[in-house]
Amino acid sequence: MFWIKEASIYTAATAGSGTRLLPTERERKFMSDKQFDVLIRNGLVFDGTGRAPRREDIAIANGNIAERGADLNGSSARTEIDAGGKWVLPGMLDIHTHLDLEVEVNPGLEEVVRHGTTTVVVGNCSLGAAFGAQRRNGDNPIVDCFARVENIPKDVLERCADRMTWTHTADYLAHFASQPLGPNVAPLIPHSMLRIEVMGVDDAVHRQPDRSELERMQGLLTEAMQQGYPGFSTDGLPFHYLANDPHKDRRVPTQYASMAEMKSLLNIVREHDRVWQATPDSHDRLKTLRWFLLTSGRLYGKPLRTSALTAIDPVADRNAWKLFLKLARLFNSRLLNGKFHFQVLSAPFRIWGDGVTMPAFEEILSIIGTTTQNDNQKTQKSFHILSARASVDFWVPSGFLS
Ligand SMILES: [Zn+2]
Repeated sequence: MFWIKEASIYTAATAGSGTRLLPTERERKFMSDKQFDVLIRNGLVFDGTGRAPRREDIAIANGNIAERGADLNGSSARTEIDAGGKWVLPGMLDIHTHLDLEVEVNPGLEEVVRHGTTTVVVGNCSLGAAFGAQRRNGDNPIVDCFARVENIPKDVLERCADRMTWTHTADYLAHFASQPLGPNVAPLIPHSMLRIEVMGVDDAVHRQPDRSELERMQGLLTEAMQQGYPGFSTDGLPFHYLANDPHKDRRVPTQYASMAEMKSLLNIVREHDRVWQATPDSHDRLKTLRWFLLTSGRLYGKPLRTSALTAIDPVADRNAWKLFLKLARLFNSRLLNGKFHFQVLSAPFRIWGDGVTMPAFEEILSIIGTTTQNDNQKTQKSFHILSARASVDFWVPSGFLS
């Protein structure tokens, strides 16, 4: 597969929303000298509309596709690219990444753009950098929250946090303007970090916010929506634990939020017509159902755009995907009037490890739900469970989007 960066302005999103693909007559006249900035010749063009691919040229002027067609005769451009034998694709959107920290040390994100992704969403699963390093009163949330959830060494996380000069969501957005970014970056407001911002780490994983704290959270979230953040993220996965003492037995702060807190914050997202990104609590299906009913326009006045990540294990539960499809249909039915979509893994998800030094082994005890660290029998059992799980490919059937 070949991807040409200059074509990235022609994204899947714009193609899907009916954006015109060709210039108007007036624009055509203006460009009668057929001078373009970039001319991509002879590529096999997949234009994102679902049409069969066509071999054609694409001309770009002022950052827009100015003309396209088979053999643009007489045209010239400052840069001409021979895409013969290659595919030319719209830039892809990666809606679920955890590149929040990597983008601070390596803004080009070469491994992302070389695969054709031109926009990445960060701030997923309630974790992110929108409030900066948040190192106050002995807290170190970037290390605490990311180390175990994202399997990143603590010393690397420390160095990432050192680079965070901002303390506010507006400054976080602004700092991207001075970064030599590879792809576009769209950050969500992360719920765990919002809770920590208002309550501190210890309180955020032990109690509910009082009225003034909840109002402060609502205020910060409202401000962020007004600043242009595309959404808000929460998390329910039962193996997402903090990494620093004395909180190693506590999960990330979002998981301690009451239904009332969730409702009040998500109402702000709903009012601004932004997106709620969530992961389900796979151990508590009833709670998951109650949470995802928050997408309903019938129950809450206006549909809440909801994007839910889950990975299906087809070996342990062969019929899970059918249940998920049914759920999505129910949420989006006329009865509930929701805007609910599952996120799809586009390829089998494999975990590779370098022997027993793999950080995932730290999670053995949490996987089997025991806290008896010196119990040899349990530890042996958990190793067995982990090795069995590591051999499973997570897989989602194509066409799974609701
Ligand atoms: Zn995630």
